[in-house]
Amino acid sequence: MSFERVQEKLKILADAAKYDVSCSSSGSKRNNKNKGLGNATGMGICHSYTEDGRCVSLLKILLTNHCIYDCAYCVTRKSNDIKRAAFKVQEVVDLTIQFYRRNYIEGLFLSSGIFKNADYTMERLVAVAKKLRNEENFNGYIHLKSIPGASDELMREAGLYADRLSVNIEIPSKSGLKKLAPDKNFDDFIQPMNKVKNEIIQYQSEKKIIKSTPIYAPAGQSTQMIIGASGESDFQIMQTSNHFYKKYHLKRVYYSGYVPISYDNRLPKIGSEVPMLRENRLYQTDWLMRFYGFHVNEILNTQHQHLDLDIDPKLSWALRNLHEFPIDINTADKRMLARIPGVGMQSVHKIIHARRYRKLNWEHLKKIGITLNRARYFITCHSQEFERRDLTAENIKGLILQKGKSKYQTTLSNQLSLFD
Ligand code: SF4
Repeated sequence: MSFERVQEKLKILADAAKYDVSCSSSGSKRNNKNKGLGNATGMGICHSYTEDGRCVSLLKILLTNHCIYDCAYCVTRKSNDIKRAAFKVQEVVDLTIQFYRRNYIEGLFLSSGIFKNADYTMERLVAVAKKLRNEENFNGYIHLKSIPGASDELMREAGLYADRLSVNIEIPSKSGLKKLAPDKNFDDFIQPMNKVKNEIIQYQSEKKIIKSTPIYAPAGQSTQMIIGASGESDFQIMQTSNHFYKKYHLKRVYYSGYVPISYDNRLPKIGSEVPMLRENRLYQTDWLMRFYGFHVNEILNTQHQHLDLDIDPKLSWALRNLHEFPIDINTADKRMLARIPGVGMQSVHKIIHARRYRKLNWEHLKKIGITLNRARYFITCHSQEFERRDLTAENIKGLILQKGKSKYQTTLSNQLSLFD
């Protein structure tokens, strides 16, 4: 195969992979061994991002963009008239090694359209990872996409070579999936997810007894959902995420705003791109669920099905629950401190540490780095009067948004004055 042909394939198959946002590579601890090539230790791998926020530090490609399926939202779908290509297993191995040696990449993110059937495709994805590990002694990061419907045996093998596995659920509800990806079956996603979860648990418990047991998929598994293509509310989306985190122990759920790339009458009209802000609000909610102790139903529920776009979800929750405030900074427990708008987890730990030695006042809180413009309406502290007085939720929201705006305007005018 000529160098030009491989380059042409690379152009087609890297371009086709760019819609997958689930390529964050943190969380693996694979050390360099046997004087091999690369590692994926401790802090994870450095990322760089393209201007639209997508990760590019991994060689991110499809094995092929041929596909037997016709998912309405996918550029690779069989009815789409596009240039097609397919790598051979050895070509992907060679590209990864060459790019790694030239310092272009830290690892490989390999996905694929489905050719022939799920197992035929998955077998080739696994073969790439296996060759990299066993023949090239490659210790860099590998993220393999699992093909929905792939057999348990292939899924088991995949996790022995890859750091992270993921199966993209794509559409957050069964009904949406039926409409937009009629060839796919919801259970085909669940089965590999369940298999990976069970293998991780089994290998972890075996490792406690036999130290030489390999670590199965050390960076865990993740999934991606496309937002805005099938009309689910934020409540439905986050309930689905919550289910995946709880039931299948996922490391991450990624939310990818639907990008209208081609016409299909099952999809929202061309031009109705999902605002970036909605994606951000979903990520913030996800963060609150995973690290701040919020239950999904506290943030979203049948009365409040969509996240506010003008304020973040924690502030929105606080304004709907003013009866929980003011919170006394000097006595509140960790859970309640984490619920104060303007107070991040790092600040929570700093507060807990600092108040062992003194009663905290306004000045202490400023030094800790709390965003007082927000927090002041929800807290009380030593020798300070509670600032909320008789303000309603609407008043507080207005004041916070106003302060945010004037801060932005001051920064902008300071920046502009540099050019005076
Ligand atoms: S199966 Fe995957 S690659 Fe194929 S059309 Fe559906 S989303 Fe695209």
